[in-house]
Amino acid sequence: MAFSDAHAAVDLLRTLVRAPSPSGRERPAVAAFAAALRDLGYDEVVVDGVGNAIGTLRRGDGPTLLFNGHLDTVPTGDAAAWPVDPLGAEVVDGRLWGRGSVDMKGALAAMAVAGRQAADDGFTGTLVVAGMVQEEVGGLGARWYGERNRADLIVLGEPSDRGLKLGHRGRIEMSIELPGRIAHAAKAELGANALTRAARFVLALESLALPAHPSLGRSTATPTQLRTFPEGGANVVPGRAELTLDYRQIPGDAPEAVVARLAALDPEAVVRILEEVARSEDGAVERRFPRVNGAYLLDPGHPSIAWAAEVLGAARGGAAIDVGTWWFATDAPYLAAMGAPILGLGPGDPEVAHTTREALPLDELLAAVDEYRTLATAFLRGRVPWEDAMTPTFDRSAR
Ligand SMILES: [Zn+2]
Repeated sequence: MAFSDAHAAVDLLRTLVRAPSPSGRERPAVAAFAAALRDLGYDEVVVDGVGNAIGTLRRGDGPTLLFNGHLDTVPTGDAAAWPVDPLGAEVVDGRLWGRGSVDMKGALAAMAVAGRQAADDGFTGTLVVAGMVQEEVGGLGARWYGERNRADLIVLGEPSDRGLKLGHRGRIEMSIELPGRIAHAAKAELGANALTRAARFVLALESLALPAHPSLGRSTATPTQLRTFPEGGANVVPGRAELTLDYRQIPGDAPEAVVARLAALDPEAVVRILEEVARSEDGAVERRFPRVNGAYLLDPGHPSIAWAAEVLGAARGGAAIDVGTWWFATDAPYLAAMGAPILGLGPGDPEVAHTTREALPLDELLAAVDEYRTLATAFLRGRVPWEDAMTPTFDRSAR
């Protein structure tokens, strides 16, 4: 049937790129994705309470495999800065161009088609394909979904450059307020300059010793924005400065420890983790949470990794599979609430995500369809493969 054709993934990706979905306003892409899942014959297709689109294929008793991705994108920005129409989904030199092609409508298109193919091949268990909303902002979609569902294995399709990804550093968005005393700039000696104080704080960050991790590197503290008050006071010694900091955190570098470490740089600094109020597009759900997207790292000894590397390696003619980590944050920390290992595997080069060069090579998209299909049929055999001690699918001693 036509939908089992891998090229259906190209058509679906084109449809999704042409359905704009900046975070919080994803409805056109959610509707297009849900319609595609119905056309592909998924048994159940729902849009949940916050707007995530979810398709399910049930084939008897067995484990649940979740293919997960996000339907929202960062904004296109200035369309004139792109070499092509950012929402045109044009194919040039074998690449499908446009916002979201790599991050990450391509993976979702591949997952949707691969799930259908796996069902046609025959499997035992449940396969779910879920497109989240609001990943690029506070993660409301995955927070909501992760709290309400379970799975035995999650494949997260963020671009992974053909490798398997086990996680990433966390992100904490912080504000640091530095005090001063307002004065006329012509009599600056009567004031205390909060901007100068903020400058000292920024320089102190450069020599701050931050903890390191063997596979994720170091935590980092990057100042990104600075505001002084009163605003517009070009001839006023500022009485207050507010610095925004993007902190990338390795596992175990707890937010409270981060706050304390930064506060120690200036006894009068007020260090806070910023809060976010997230709303579903229809306004029905509102959540307030700190701007913390925690670190996620699957235990490198988890048997799912060797299992997946073996299945993928065999599918690639015996090639070794690169196992590493992402340099950017994802929905994984929220999906971790589902209690399943999360493996990152998605088509495309993450370096072009969020840029005006975002384009997905079609051969990578088609390869992803095949690989997701292979993983699904290998996993959905009635039992979680690595829990079946009688017929191991991989050799623990070979790792
Ligand atoms: Zn993404």
